[in-house]
Amino acid sequence: MTEAVIQDRLGLATPDQAERFARLRTMFEDAGCGGHVTEIKVKHAKLPNLVCVLPGASEQEVVIGAHFDSVPKVTGVVDNWSGASLLPSLYQSIAKQGRKHTFRFVGFVDEEKGLVGSRAYVKSLTDADRSRILGGSILTQSARAP
Ligand SMILES: [Zn+2]
Repeated sequence: MTEAVIQDRLGLATPDQAERFARLRTMFEDAGCGGHVTEIKVKHAKLPNLVCVLPGASEQEVVIGAHFDSVPKVTGVVDNWSGASLLPSLYQSIAKQGRKHTFRFVGFVDEEKGLVGSRAYVKSLTDADRSRILGGSILTQSARAP
């Protein structure tokens, strides 16, 4: 991905939580994940988790997640739009080549309220789901304000 695309997506940060969700969804669709984007309802959360799957030759999975919410009234660029807005670009980069593993990109809701979305996600996994997951990574803020 070009730096310009990554910068443009980073620039879409907004304090409006529903709009953050909508923008992440649009970015996934623009990245080519259209038919594989799903919303998973999360108990006690106004917005769902957002999942984009990039199928591979095998069902064995790598899960890459980032929370898309911010604390109220701030754009939360570093924490954590920097992580969330990178998910569609990772999808696009990895989609360009053949791959053995399936990649599952997850935008988590309400991390700032206590890991609400990610906890619900992990809790929802069946034993079969867990056995397919080889590993994963959480994209989170890589820099702190001075
Ligand atoms: Zn955070």
